[in-house]
Amino acid sequence: MLKLPQSAYVSLRRHGEETYPHECCGVLLGQIGDNSVRTVTSVARAGNTRTDSAHNRYNIDPKDLIRIQREGRGRGEDIIGFYHSHPDHPARWSQTDLAEAHWFGCSYVITSVEKGKAVLTNSFELTGSGENHKKLVDEKIEVSPPEGSPDGNRPQKMRAARGQPIGRDHAAISASPNDPAFVARPAGKPVYYGFQVLDDVNVDGFTLGKITDFEEEPCDSGDAFVVAPDNSRAGLVWEVHEPPYFEEVRPADPERWGVWAVSFPFPMTDRENARRNLQTVLPRLNEKWEAWRRGGGTKPR
Ligand SMILES: [Zn+2]
Repeated sequence: MLKLPQSAYVSLRRHGEETYPHECCGVLLGQIGDNSVRTVTSVARAGNTRTDSAHNRYNIDPKDLIRIQREGRGRGEDIIGFYHSHPDHPARWSQTDLAEAHWFGCSYVITSVEKGKAVLTNSFELTGSGENHKKLVDEKIEVSPPEGSPDGNRPQKMRAARGQPIGRDHAAISASPNDPAFVARPAGKPVYYGFQVLDDVNVDGFTLGKITDFEEEPCDSGDAFVVAPDNSRAGLVWEVHEPPYFEEVRPADPERWGVWAVSFPFPMTDRENARRNLQTVLPRLNEKWEAWRRGGGTKPR
């Protein structure tokens, strides 16, 4: 299984849109844990050296790769996978992809980009006993809120992979003595439990929750979530950006009515602006919530 923070997932999909109609490529950095679960903590973009046929081939410059590996090790990260895009082709590996994959135990992530828009993102693990007996095997991708890592002086601020402070709910109860509640969520608690719900940032019964602590440190992008009037939840990857956009990051599932990449018009400097931003995106969010409920989304399990 490959675990990706929302920000990494959005970043690698965006990369494929930006280089369209050419393939993009990059490196996944992080840790390999028990049962070969690969947890990404950052992604590094790389230039595609295949200028001869960049629409259907990719190749990471070895010099880039060495630099990325060295910089990653400096932060305690290893290379755990690679990603590239398939412009106007399915998110499945090709024979060329298999032939050119050499990192056993690593993830190979492929995003299909149709007419410039990222559609599906799939991951495959390279397994086998050698170059003549290798396979790319389907693996599950789990997109998660940024996992915190202690920044030295617990229980001070926790920081997400990209260095932003996390809005923890210090009253939340963790299922583990060593981890915060959002990492070790007790059974029965809703998704995003452990992050702070901003009760006063509320529009028409929808309440904003903060994952990235924009109040602690000014930032123009981050992660958040929204709590609907029925207490069901959806994820937000927000960015202060013009012109406006609203994109699906992750489809709805029984636990949440999707994860949405949204632009905010107002700087996230205080709760009043946060409320105005929520108000701006609420019509689209409301639509998604209604659709999820009509589709039998039911209560979060
Ligand atoms: Zn490919």
